Amino acid sequence: MHLNELRLTNYRNYKKMELSFENKINVFLGENAQGKTNVMEAIYVLAMANSHRTSRDKELIKWDEEYAKIEGRIEKKTGSLSLQLVISQQGKKAKVNHLEQKKLSEYIGALNVVMFAPEDLNLVKGSPGVRRRFIDMEIGQVQPVYLYHLGQYIKLLQQRNSLLKNMRNSSQEKMIMMEILTDQLVEQAANVIIRRFRFIELLQEWAEPIHRGISRNLEELKIQYNPSAEVSETMDLSKIVEAYKQKFDKIKDREIERGVTLAGPHRDDLSFFVNGKDVQTFGSQGQQRTTALSLKLAEIELIKGEVGEYPLLLLDDVLSELDDFRQSHLLNTIQGRVQTFVTTTSVEGIHHSTLDKASMFEVK
Ligand code: ATP
Ligand code: MG
Repeated sequence: MHLNELRLTNYRNYKKMELSFENKINVFLGENAQGKTNVMEAIYVLAMANSHRTSRDKELIKWDEEYAKIEGRIEKKTGSLSLQLVISQQGKKAKVNHLEQKKLSEYIGALNVVMFAPEDLNLVKGSPGVRRRFIDMEIGQVQPVYLYHLGQYIKLLQQRNSLLKNMRNSSQEKMIMMEILTDQLVEQAANVIIRRFRFIELLQEWAEPIHRGISRNLEELKIQYNPSAEVSETMDLSKIVEAYKQKFDKIKDREIERGVTLAGPHRDDLSFFVNGKDVQTFGSQGQQRTTALSLKLAEIELIKGEVGEYPLLLLDDVLSELDDFRQSHLLNTIQGRVQTFVTTTSVEGIHHSTLDKASMFEVK
């Protein structure tokens, strides 16, 4: 798929902007603080209805304006689509072909993107929350039903947590309420986790050979999902439900004492191993960056496998960070198949073979 046109109104530092793109490499060149990342972010938000930089949507609206609007025309195998997302104090409204979408989870996924930005190093180095967000966003864009289950899970989790805070002087009524909530929570947890297992399995399948290629056959990447209960990828839904129930039974007293839910998808994490060693602890800066890059390139293939088309690739400030070998490896991987957007402050950092094929946009 590719993006033909992008129109921004009151988005960050853009009052009004309109651009057309070709289905190839598009380079945004400009000095610091001109609005390069803002364009990349806008494309990302058009696809995901969420920013990769902030969870506070208000920041996306141009200062002193009431709303921000992003519009795009995309070309897919199934035809062309017009997308529109309006962000205001009242929230977000999304349209596909001028039809308002009742739920954002139904809108997300019309356009698929993979973003690789400097913050993605946090995928390896950062807190578990960063990795959970990565998993959730990526599964969400290929499987909207995942976002439904996740949303239900989070709602039930909040209810269960507030009940747990009041459980010390427990009554019969509260006990029954807790049982009901736990049953419902466990059901959604299982629906979330089973999709996460499948996603990690696919990601591993793609990332391993890609990582081997980028590291010149020197490194083997393994991705491991660490669940907070005794569940595994070999279990079916009912087995997972059972395992969670047992877990909650076991930790009941501790949960009441602490007043929070201590197991479930919101406590899980990912680990990355290179040649058997945890990259978060032992990896060099370069190995961590290569790991993040392998994950992103794997995602491109994973999305192609799931939705039948390549997503857009957004490379914010990262191309010039990669050495020549990694740059050409990346470009060979996407070669003519993936519409790519690149930002840079100078053309020096970008390989001439890339620039030859690119459309240039000066951002000022
Ligand atoms: P760099 O090379 O440093 O990464 P950039 O070109 O990527 O720079 P952007 O992050 O796109 O720069 O930001 C451009 C400008 O947009 C910044 O000066 C910032 O202050 C401004 N900006 C950010 N949010 C808003 C907003 N809501 N309203 C108006 N301007 C904003
Ligand atoms: Mg930037």
